[in-house]
Amino acid sequence: SLEQGPEGPETPIQVVLRVRPMSAAELRRGEQSALHCSGTRTLQVSPPGGGPDVAFRFGAVLDGARTQEDVFRACGVRRLGELALRGFSCTVFTFGQTGSGKTYTLTGPPPQGEGVPVPPNLAGIMQRTFTWLLDRVQHLGAPVTLRASYLEIYNEQVRDLLSVGSPRPLPVRWNKTRGFYVEQLRVVEFGSLGALMELLQMGLSRRRSSAHTLNQASSRSHALLTLYVSRQTSLSSPGPPAPQIPPGDSGEPPVGGKLCFVDLAGSEKVAATGSRGELMLEANSINRSLLALGHCISLLLDPQRKQSHIPFRDSKLTKLLADSLGGRGVTLMVACVSPSAQCLPETLSTLRYASRAQ
Ligand code: ADP
Ligand code: MG
Repeated sequence: SLEQGPEGPETPIQVVLRVRPMSAAELRRGEQSALHCSGTRTLQVSPPGGGPDVAFRFGAVLDGARTQEDVFRACGVRRLGELALRGFSCTVFTFGQTGSGKTYTLTGPPPQGEGVPVPPNLAGIMQRTFTWLLDRVQHLGAPVTLRASYLEIYNEQVRDLLSVGSPRPLPVRWNKTRGFYVEQLRVVEFGSLGALMELLQMGLSRRRSSAHTLNQASSRSHALLTLYVSRQTSLSSPGPPAPQIPPGDSGEPPVGGKLCFVDLAGSEKVAATGSRGELMLEANSINRSLLALGHCISLLLDPQRKQSHIPFRDSKLTKLLADSLGGRGVTLMVACVSPSAQCLPETLSTLRYASRAQ
């Protein structure tokens, strides 16, 4: 588990691999598993039709028997939460081909209907982190303001999933104090788990990738839920309550720590080539943000490179993740794969991408 792991900040990205169980459809088609977990950190890949096994090592490897709670623990998200409380920017993102379990890992199975919450035992990393964070803030006893935003990047356009009224594309801007930010993005303060869950459900139902819309669109959008954690330090006497920061762009920018959860677009057609530190992506139709993310990661891992040369400006996604990727934050990647031998070409490409990112 990464929870106790000494993986220090010198590793820019920590990588966990999750193999989902065989789906009913895969079982019905009689597909075989090509993956075997040996130990807690190694995955064995057995190419169908013989050939030598290939082994991949990650910070943690979780097989199809692992529960949502197991995954949450193994990912050490609590450590990221602590860092966010101390003012760092942290990111958790899921990577993998469409159908590999990215959304399930972050938010659980699709809601069974409008306003129906995900059952607690199936809740994903996001809900578990919310619960933990609210609990932690209560125990700290310190005045902490929690806010959230939820957006989607589709065709290099940012859509606010929490907007009042129908979402229109919002520009990404940069300034000295804030770094990159989305103009006019609704940032909502919340004080309870219930309130945050409502925001999450609202955002999920407005995603292009919601269950009702075409798979085509769903596999090409990135969803970013960001929690902003700000601690108010100067509270010597119980004076008047701190001024409420209105939603939107009119108030103070959220200062303090951040915890961002990113459900990435499907990685199909992304092929990783090159050696460690030279992660190159070849893609025809892959979206620009995913391509740029791979490029930035590969440069971040290259010890010869100065951080100032990382091309975060190449895409909306990399702009918005710049502070956790390139700053003093921590990034956790959960690579998701299907066990089926039918998916092996895509699985190998995910495994290579993931193992080069660590
Ligand atoms: P992605 O977001 O990568 O496209 P999903 O998260 O939507 O994939 O998962 C595809 C399907 O598999 C969904 O029906 C999901 O509920 C199911 N699934 C994914 N991971 C698991 C898991 N660990 N256990 C049970 N079902 C899963
Ligand atoms: Mg998904």
